[in-house]
Parts: sequence; structure tokens; C-alpha cells
Amino acid sequence: MDRINIIEKINKLIEDANTNRFKDCKATMDSSLEALSLSEKIDYPLGRALSLYRLSEVYVNTGNYSKALDILFISLDFFIKEGILDLQLGIYILFGVIFFELGDYERSMEFYTTAETVAKEIDTGKNFYSFSSTKSSMVIVLNNIAEIYNFLKDYKEAFKYYYMAYKIDKKLAFSSSKGVILLSLGQIYYLTGSYYKASIFTHKSLKYMEKYNYKLLEAEAYKFLGLIYWKKNDLIKAQCYFEKAMNFNEEESAPYYRIDLYIHYYKFLEYRKDDNGALKALQTAYDLSIGNNLLEKAPELAALLAKFHERLGDYQTAYKYFKMYYEYEKTFLESLHKLRINSISVQKKIQQIENEKRDMAEKNQRLRIKSEELKLIVENISIISALGQKITATLNLSEIVEILHSSIKTFMNIDLFGIGLYHEENAVIEYLDVMENEKRVKKPSTYMSNKYSFFATCIKSGKVIIINDLSTEFPKYLDEETYDSFKLKSNFELNSLIFCPLFINNEIIGVMTVQSREKNAITAYSKEMIKSLSSYAAIAVNNAIKSMELEKEIHRRKIIQQESEELNEKLLHLSENDAMTGIANRRKFDSYFNTVWDSSVLAREYISLILLDIDYFKEYNDNYGHIEGDNCIIKIADALSSFKELTHFVSRYGGDEFIIILPNCALETALTFSNNLKNRIATLHIIHEFSEVSDIVTCSIGVTSIIPHFNITINEFIRKADNALYLAKERGRNQIASINEYNF
Ligand code: GH3
Ligand code: MG
Repeated sequence: MDRINIIEKINKLIEDANTNRFKDCKATMDSSLEALSLSEKIDYPLGRALSLYRLSEVYVNTGNYSKALDILFISLDFFIKEGILDLQLGIYILFGVIFFELGDYERSMEFYTTAETVAKEIDTGKNFYSFSSTKSSMVIVLNNIAEIYNFLKDYKEAFKYYYMAYKIDKKLAFSSSKGVILLSLGQIYYLTGSYYKASIFTHKSLKYMEKYNYKLLEAEAYKFLGLIYWKKNDLIKAQCYFEKAMNFNEEESAPYYRIDLYIHYYKFLEYRKDDNGALKALQTAYDLSIGNNLLEKAPELAALLAKFHERLGDYQTAYKYFKMYYEYEKTFLESLHKLRINSISVQKKIQQIENEKRDMAEKNQRLRIKSEELKLIVENISIISALGQKITATLNLSEIVEILHSSIKTFMNIDLFGIGLYHEENAVIEYLDVMENEKRVKKPSTYMSNKYSFFATCIKSGKVIIINDLSTEFPKYLDEETYDSFKLKSNFELNSLIFCPLFINNEIIGVMTVQSREKNAITAYSKEMIKSLSSYAAIAVNNAIKSMELEKEIHRRKIIQQESEELNEKLLHLSENDAMTGIANRRKFDSYFNTVWDSSVLAREYISLILLDIDYFKEYNDNYGHIEGDNCIIKIADALSSFKELTHFVSRYGGDEFIIILPNCALETALTFSNNLKNRIATLHIIHEFSEVSDIVTCSIGVTSIIPHFNITINEFIRKADNALYLAKERGRNQIASINEYNF
């Protein structure tokens, strides 16, 4: 047989055990044991757990609770591990039954309550039987809870629970209780004297027990009808129902119920003065008790028999039963003792399991706390990282204050937020805008020497300061007088304060503070959050300050650059221009002339050069004074440079001598230009009484022109102009002389 077939067989055996469990203990035991051994052989854990579960039911039904418990825990652990709810429920109910039988009603109730919790999850969870449902499970649980109250004679509570079960099972056509719930309600009505209702419910219960083939309790229902009709004094009907109950054979009726039936029947017959019948019934009850080893009933029955025989005058038999009574009483007490020991060992076992469960619960609790802490950390990280991105994206200190302030507000109530910057060089703490009551406020700077400043204390210690109730903690930081004046100065009383140093590379750059009117506002959580935020605040503030410093530095450098450019320009101007007249000097002339020379060489263009010297200037100077001499030179320089007739370049060549370059200009044009210049100077009309050629200042002019080429140098060309000037002087001054290129 392969594994699949064996599993099929195991499942079949377990199903047999399930159907037999209400009517045949032995058959249930046999099929469970076979299923168990097969499951162990092929290592089929579900089969094993199910077989043990059914087997434990047999043990419970036969009062072997310790054995039942041993195997029930194995099954329960497996069903919990696999998350099979309906089978867990079945086991919790069995536990409840066991403790009920052992007389521990509180614990029995505890198990039923656990069963109730499981029952509520059945509809939404995993189950072994497809027909399992929360409703049908609740019927069983509520019925069993009612049984406890019924046993303890609290009929009101019992009725309440039976009725709850009844209402649910009614909708299910009593399929969950198989009609038992109706019988139970019938019993309560019987016990509370409502015989009419008792009979209706019991009759109805019979209908459903028959429908669902619940033989085990059918006889019990008939017995009840017998008792009800006896109470109603309908002895014929009572007799009839007792007989119906007795007609069930031993397999169909549990011995315990049968004994109880015969005891009631004996009492009924005794009431009817039927001594023979009564004795027979009593004897049957006694025989069943001995035969089935149900010894708790034996002493009572032996005593009843003894008394009965004594009343009938049969003293010998009466004596025999009295002896039996003592013997059974002894054995019963012993068995009771055993049961007690059994109960104690069961209790110990349960205690041990409960301890294990408690440990587990504690471990779960620790895990839960841990996971909550983790959740919080994740939240923190997201707040902090969002802030980190925002805050490091700005270099604006006011914006940084704003971002930090609104971030902190998301996790605590704050009334004041501020940042103080530490300037080590002058031991000053400068406050950025402080957010007080949602408003920006400016605070004056303070000194590190201020011994009452929390900021200074925080910077000196480099540690976080936390105050959760300033009214009691202030003496650590302030004297009473300062505290009072501090309170007076403040618009509102701040009770919780935290000061966090802002570190950059182990150096404190400032302090961040968060304050609240509330007492104990700095919780462990907010403290950690603020501390985390302070490292971002430090980076952001530092970046902003560094960037501001950088900006200042850039600005400073720009000014310096501009100044130096201006200076350079001035120096250049000075180096290229004549200080007195403002026109180009010899240096500038040289460089300009070189450029023009080179381009004229390439372009094959004429350059003309004019040399101009004031006539008899020595005399002018000597007679009018050096300052007037200077003025004269300046006037002539101005006249030369402002003369717009041609593109030309004028520079002061020496004391009273000027040189003019005319690019792209041939001799003829240069001569005309020179002539016009000479006239222009004449129009200046500078009186010179000591000149030998005129009574005003005049000039002598030398002109020359050439298309520059490689055979002549600049200096040779200038010399030609000089020669021309010399000629003009020679010829009598106040005139123009020229040398053309052919005379070179
Ligand atoms: P000539 O007609 O031959 O040119 O006679 P001159 O007197 O002008 O003789 P010369 O050119 O040799 O003399 C120039 C004089 O100009 C000499 C000097 O005293 C004067 N001088 C040169 N530079 C300056 C100056 O910057 N300011 C003043 N006031 N006089 C100057
Ligand atoms: Mg001169």
C-alpha cells in the first residue's frame, strides 16, 4: 500500500471514530488507535494529532482524565502550530469538560472562554472540517458554559446561556447540538417547576435526537419525560416513558445515564408502592454500577438495597448490603482519593503549560514593544530625513529656523524655538530670530560670562540640558531672584526646556532650544527627535554661515579687484600720458607708432610724422615765469589734441616739443594739416613779447612722409622729421619745412 492509500485509510478510520464517538466508545477507541499506529508508521503528523484527539475523547468519556490530558496537549500544540481553528476549539472544549468533571469549575470556565474566542474566529480562519462554523461552535461553547451554571444550581445563569445557544441553533435546525440544547432547556424548566414547558422542550429534543441519530441522549430524554409526567401526576404516561427509556440497549445508552434512570425508576415504583418492581430496578442500578465499575454510585445503591431488604424483613440480605456499603464506600473513597491525586497532577501539568504560555506571551509582548520601537524609529527617520533634505537645501538662516520650528511642532507642543550662534572670538552668543508663540522675535546677544544664560551653560558643558519642570528644577541653574525676574520678563511661563549644543567636527557652533509651557513635555521620544534634528540644524546653520562669510569675502574681493583695476588704469594712464598736459607721452607714442608702422608696412600705406617745437620758449619761460610757461605748453597741447581735422595721434615729445602721427596720410595732406595747425596755434594768441619772430607764441614744424618698408627703421624716419624741424628753425622759425621720401 503506498502512502496515499495509507493516508486515505487513516482519514477513514478517523472519520469512523468521529461518527462513533457519540454512541460507541470501544469502536472509537479501536479506530483511533489503528489510525494512530498507521500515522506514526508513515510519519503523518496530522493523522497522529487527529487520532490522539479522538482517543482523548474516549479517555474523557471513561473518566481517564490524566491520560486524556497527556495526549490532548500534543494534539493542541500541533493544531495551534498549523492554525487549525475548529480542532483547537474541540480540544479547549474537552479541557473544559475535564475540569468540570474534576470539580475545578473556574478553570473549566476559563477553557470555555478560550474556546469562545476561537469559535468567533472560525468563520474567517483555517479549519479542518468544511462544515465548521462560528455559529455551530458557539452553540456547543454556550451550552457547556450553561452546564456549569446548571450544575452549580444557578438556573437563571444556566437558562441565559442555554437560551443563547438555543437561539443560534434554532436557525441551524438544531444541527449543532443535535437537539441536546432543547433537552437542557427542558431540564431547566423541570428544575424550576415549569413542567408544561419542560415537556414541550423535551418532546422537541427527542424529535431532533432521532433526526440526527443521537441515541446516547434519547434514553435520557425519555427518562426526563417520565420524571415530568410523574411531577404532573400522570403516572401512566410516566410509566410509559420510563419503560421507553429502559428499552434502549447498553450500547445505545451510557451506563452512567442508565444507572441514573434505574434509580429514578426505583423511586417512582416505590412511590407507586410496587415493592417488587422497585427492588428489581434498584438491583439493576446496583448491578450496572458494579458491572461498569462506576463506584461513586455503588455505596449509595448498596445502602438503599440494605434499607429496602431491612424494611422487607430480610435481615440477612440487608446485612450483606450493609457490608457491601462499607466496602464500596471504602473503595469509593480510595478512588476519590486517586481522583484527587489525578486532579492535582493534572493541575500541575496545566500550571506548567500555563507558565510556558506566559513566558511565550511575555516574549511576544517584548517583541511587540520592539516592533513598536522600530515603527517609531522608521517614523523618526522619515521626519528627520525629510527635514534633512529641506534644511540642507537652503542657505537662509531665517528659513532654517522656520523649517526646524515647523518640524518640531509635528511631534510636540512648543511655545518657543530658538538658535544661538556662538562667536568664540569675542565670547558672544548671537540669537537668530526666536520663534515665540508663533511670532518672530529679535533677542539681544548675550555674553558667555552671563552665568545665568542656559545657552552659555550648554556651550560650556557641551551637554544637552533637559528641564521638565522649571519651577522645581531652576535652583540647579539660577538663583531665586533671577528666576523670578526671568518669570516677570517672560510673556508666559515656560516649564519644559531643552538646550542642545550644535556640533560641527567636535566644535560647538551654537545651541538650539525648544521650550514649552507644558510640564514634562520633553519625553524620551521628543528628546531623541530633537537631538537628531540638532545635528541637521548644526550642518544647515554652519553651511549658511559659511556661505554668508563666503559671500562677504567674494564681495570684499570684488571691491579690491575693482580698486586695483582702477589703480592699474590710473597707473597705466600715468605711465602713458604726460602728467601736465594729459596727452600721450613718449612711451605711449613709441608703442603706438610701432603698431601703426607694422600695419602700414603690410597695407603699403603712407605714414606722415609732424614734429612741432615752440619758438623762443626759453625766453617765454624766463620772462613770464615757469608757471605761465606750463600754461602755455598746456594750451598748445589742448589745441593739438582737440584739432579734429584728421585722424592723428599727438604726444608730448620733450619739453616744448610735440610729435604727431598721421596714419594713412601722404605728405601733401600732412603739410595742409600742419599749416592749419600752425594757424590754429596763432588763433590762441598767446602773447610773447620776447619772441624774435612774432609778438605771439609761434611754432616751427617739421613734416615727413613715407610708405614704410624694411629698409628704413622707425628711428631713421623720426630723425628725418627732426631734420625737417631743424630746417624750419634754420629758415627763421614760425614756418613749416618738409623732407620727402626721395631725400631719405
Ligand atoms: P628755439 O626757438 O630754438 O626752440 O628756442 P628755445 O628757447 O625754445 O630753445 P629750447 O627749445 O632749447 O628751449 C626750451 C626751453 O623750454 C628750455 C626750458 O627752460 C623750457 N622748458 C622745457 N620744458 C619745460 C616745462 O615743462 N615747463 C616750462 N615752463 N618750461 C620748460
Ligand atoms: Mg623751442
